[in-house]
Amino acid sequence: MKEARPTGEMELMDMTVTSGSGSGLPFLIQRTVARTIKITELIGNGRYGQVYLGYYQGEPVAVKKFFSRDEKSWCRETEIYNTLLLRHDNILGFFASDMVSNNGVTELWLITQYHQFGSLYDFLMQEAVSPKVMLQMAISMCSGLAHLHTELFGTQAKPAIAHRDMKTKNVLVKNNMTCCIADFGLAVFKNMNEMNIPTNPKQGTKRYMAPEILNETVNMKSFESFKHVDVYALGLILWELCRRSTGVSGVPEDYEVPLQGMVPPDPSFEDMRRVVLLREMTKVMRECWYYTSTARPTAVYLKKKLLKMSQELEKMNYGDHDIQQAT
Ligand code: ADP
Ligand code: MG
Ligand code: MG
Repeated sequence: MKEARPTGEMELMDMTVTSGSGSGLPFLIQRTVARTIKITELIGNGRYGQVYLGYYQGEPVAVKKFFSRDEKSWCRETEIYNTLLLRHDNILGFFASDMVSNNGVTELWLITQYHQFGSLYDFLMQEAVSPKVMLQMAISMCSGLAHLHTELFGTQAKPAIAHRDMKTKNVLVKNNMTCCIADFGLAVFKNMNEMNIPTNPKQGTKRYMAPEILNETVNMKSFESFKHVDVYALGLILWELCRRSTGVSGVPEDYEVPLQGMVPPDPSFEDMRRVVLLREMTKVMRECWYYTSTARPTAVYLKKKLLKMSQELEKMNYGDHDIQQAT
């Protein structure tokens, strides 16, 4: 028998009792909880389901209803939230998971703290932030990810968890203008006895995928690889956040998704591989501009580096196409 212990604003203890199946994923007995939640409006749409605002004894909660075909994602999220010590200010607060029978149709619910500002993506589309808030949000996200990534031992033991779908739509904005990380449907974990490694690395959101995922060079045997992939995506999130801050580039810039205008709205793996490769050019330029003269690359190094890029581009069958367009 496992019990989640909510430490959030509300104590919903009677919602959190689940029965363990004894092995593997927790088998959740149907509870009366869901019936006592009053669902009101739809607040979010994701790939795996729909998120509603509900009320439990007058207190707002978020209810994520999974499509039945996405049972795997519900199980994984439940497993991550329910069996691992995950309580942290910057991780979405979990109350309960439930299987609900609605007119003979089984619904899979995940009940969490409700955050009225919604995702960081929605927030940044509307709002600019002061440098103070920008840093506060950045620090809070890093704290959340640091907690997630860290394996703890002893009585407070917790496995290392990699998120695998870090993006502004999976970060929520709290009332105090800090953030918390949500959506653990693709997360993997590692502890002393067990390593849970994905079979398919190319899951998640293409726009946020690290080069090593796109070109399939990621070391699938090392859990650390997945942490590095999370950090790559975190960098893009920080970019989205910084653009909306005053004082970074003068006035806040309009919200843009990462690589906006550089890849189409629903990019293919090919689109992504090409743009991620070509973005190496910005690194090359920055290196040439190093303030410290001796830190600048040599012309020989640059020639080799650019030749390598050009060969990789050719392998992708993009070279010719581009040359034609450029002339
Ligand atoms: P999916 O796995 O389908 O992507 P998410 O858990 O990411 O689902 O939720 C989808 C969207 O719903 C989020 O991007 C966010 O806008 C909204 N949302 C999710 N959870 C909450 C919450 N607890 N409070 C407020 N909005 C939420
Ligand atoms: Mg999501
Ligand atoms: Mg998800």
